Amino acid sequence: MTTATRRAFEELPYPTVVVVGGGFAGLEVVQRLAGKPFKVILLDKQNHHCFQPLLYQVATASLSADSIAHPFRRTVGPMPNVAFRMAEVRRILPDRKCVETNVGDFDYDVLILAQGSTTNFFGNQQLAEVAMQLKSISQALDIRSDFLQEFERAMVLRDEHDLRRCLNFVIVGAGPTGVELAGALAEIRRTVLKREYREMNSELMRIVLIDSNDRVLKSFSETASANALKYLDLLGVEVRLGVRVLGGDEDHITLDDGSSLDTNTVIWAAGVKGALIPGLEDAVNERANRYRVDVHNGVAGFPGIHAIGDIALMEADPAWPKGHPQVATVAIQQGRHLVGNMLRRNKGLQPLPFGYVDKGSMAVIGRGHAVVDMGGRSYGGVVAWFLWMVVHVAKLVSFRNRIMVLVNWAWKYLSWKNTIRLIIRPYVRHGTSVSRPFVAQE
Ligand SMILES: Cc1cc2nc3c(=O)[nH]c(=O)nc-3n(C[C@H](O)[C@H](O)[C@H](O)COP(=O)(O)OP(=O)(O)OC[C@H]3O[C@@H](n4cnc5c(N)ncnc54)[C@H](O)[C@@H]3O)c2cc1C
Repeated sequence: MTTATRRAFEELPYPTVVVVGGGFAGLEVVQRLAGKPFKVILLDKQNHHCFQPLLYQVATASLSADSIAHPFRRTVGPMPNVAFRMAEVRRILPDRKCVETNVGDFDYDVLILAQGSTTNFFGNQQLAEVAMQLKSISQALDIRSDFLQEFERAMVLRDEHDLRRCLNFVIVGAGPTGVELAGALAEIRRTVLKREYREMNSELMRIVLIDSNDRVLKSFSETASANALKYLDLLGVEVRLGVRVLGGDEDHITLDDGSSLDTNTVIWAAGVKGALIPGLEDAVNERANRYRVDVHNGVAGFPGIHAIGDIALMEADPAWPKGHPQVATVAIQQGRHLVGNMLRRNKGLQPLPFGYVDKGSMAVIGRGHAVVDMGGRSYGGVVAWFLWMVVHVAKLVSFRNRIMVLVNWAWKYLSWKNTIRLIIRPYVRHGTSVSRPFVAQE
């Protein structure tokens, strides 16, 4: 913004709407408020929107980071009534109608909280220190570097036990993220590892998927779960159900059935919790770590403050008494609905209650296999795989991202290769053996 443009923005005679977080929910709000009589300030600690459903493909070297991320400035550039500030919100001050951030305070008339969720280790500090997470681009790049580093290390190790530990990849949580990640790593074993790490016995690489539930993809239909298990089995993923990970350190994890697994790499995909910001404690549901909201996404007890997406817990929707699932479709629909209500209020109309339209669930498991629950039916195999691809490409934020993803997928499909296998920023695991300088053994 030039000084004149900034002044023009600041002098807009509209109420100031501060949106915290430009994920699926926040971005939907911003896009729908563009050109409307509101002065909108989008705050995000990152400078880009991240399409989280495809993060696992960045982590497994199928897609480059920039094909699933989109800079906020590209989005808001053409929107004269919207400004972006890269800022981490640290406290909400409802009495002063302002939020505190690392770059200063921002006053609001309307506050929309859409800061999403963080990884939930369910209080297990040991695991929080040891396990890798998959919630952001940088974490996906860490996983990519980690498995490539482990492969390179394995090429020079002589000790059989060290070698096996290096090639044991443990994923905790058999929800969509865990299942998709496991499938993608298994694909790498049967293609890249076999062909390009020729001196290594690729069969030594193990992918172990652990979940305390009795089936994979617990939130899907039983048919989809059974199909997913079948596909994982075909790919050689070891699925261990009904067991809980108790703890771990730099070279092993322990399970509640008394067993343990030697591994350098544990990826935690077992759950998320709301990314609360201090200041609205009275509205927090402790069990879910989310803000309690009414049917209009108003935060309970805080007029003028709304919460949408993963961070919001709406228990008033009779179809979802424990709150809506923390998925992108809920976030997008709540963002859209909230703006609809803001515009209704402007016209003197009553707001309408939110009702979630469940469009189904899908997960992909390696090349050519996916499961889709949609319209009361469950689909599997290649049909589901195509459906999965179409839906994900269509939902990407920009045309460039769609083209990049399509080209990468086409190349991978034809070449059978995960090409983006670059260790750009070596992964250094704090306080563990992996952080030791890489030393080849004689
Ligand atoms: C690996 C993975 C795979 C997934 N796959 C699917 C899928 O296939 N289908 C599906 O429907 N859902 C999927 N989800 C869930 C889906 O991504 C989330 O439900 C969705 O992103 C929630 O949207 P949101 O806008 O509430 O939060 P987010 O999209 O998480 O956005 C939150 C934003 O807030 C910002 N932020 C956080 N804290 C602060 C702060 N203090 N100050 C400023 N900014 C802040 C973040 O940088 C981020 O940009 C997946 C999630 C993950 C992690």
